[in-house]
Amino acid sequence: MVGAGQGRPVSAATLPPLGRCQLCRVRRHLSAHKSRRDGLVRNLCTSCYSDATLTEERGGFVDWDQALDHGPGEDLLTWLRGDL
Ligand SMILES: [Zn+2]
Repeated sequence: MVGAGQGRPVSAATLPPLGRCQLCRVRRHLSAHKSRRDGLVRNLCTSCYSDATLTEERGGFVDWDQALDHGPGEDLLTWLRGDL
């Protein structure tokens, strides 16, 4: 099982200033990142926010959930190898 445990609903209107980043799991100040790929909002720290933005700009996946939901197998393998 990968990507489990992220079932908490996310609302951009009620974001806490501090929380656990959905990517690096570190408790930090968070920004709501709205994915261009899947339209989902993720609570990300500044570092992961820029990473996610850059990753999507080059066609990659922000996290496991996105990769598993939207990525064909080959893309997922490419993503795992870091070739994107
Ligand atoms: Zn982070």
